Amino acid sequence: MKVIGLTGGIACGKSTVSEVLRKEGAAIVDADAIAHELSRPGGGVYDFYVREFGKGILAADGTLDRAGIARRVFSDPALRDEVNARVHPLIRRTAMDRIADLREEGHAAVVLDAPLLFEAGWHRLVDESWVVAVPPDVQLMRLMARNPEMSEAEARARIAAQMPLAEKCARADIVIDNGGAREDMMRFVAELWGQRVAPPA
Ligand code: ADP
Repeated sequence: MKVIGLTGGIACGKSTVSEVLRKEGAAIVDADAIAHELSRPGGGVYDFYVREFGKGILAADGTLDRAGIARRVFSDPALRDEVNARVHPLIRRTAMDRIADLREEGHAAVVLDAPLLFEAGWHRLVDESWVVAVPPDVQLMRLMARNPEMSEAEARARIAAQMPLAEKCARADIVIDNGGAREDMMRFVAELWGQRVAPPA
């Protein structure tokens, strides 16, 4: 079974590409979804935050105040690194368990959808890294269109806080250019899937 790591810069279209791959028949392991699951009361990530930050990190309904956490760690890179170093292994363990289950089920390939594939070192756990990329002006535009609550300055800061997209592209086995029309990207991804995962017999 081939394990493909899918990543990209914020708002470059990773989730959109992931959906296309799902339709092509890929089994998807979604790191963000796992992070959400583990952040529910009783989950490993939830327990970690309550232990480290105290009950003040909870919203009124007892769930994690994810926006509050994001604000806190976004403004403090050292704290962010520390939290990531503790939280990523929890997510990785669950992701690897799911991949192992899918291997047992006999899938031809699985896509590990992970925004921080390179930052977390997970590219070492996959057979190929695919990076979704768009030009910088398109990235800013799509981010602001998707998240209208963000000011332009906030959107720029979000992009600047990430590993540079050019670096991700340089480290990728495959770059999926999503700077044009959705249809072009969909055609490219379908061809890619056919060539790299399900070659005709
Ligand atoms: P990511 O998961 O990488 O953060 P998304 O898949 O959410 O990015 O895409 C960011 C935004 O851009 C979404 O609103 C999505 O609908 C839109 N989008 C994705 N691909 C295209 C495209 N080729 N043309 C126009 N808009 C797109």
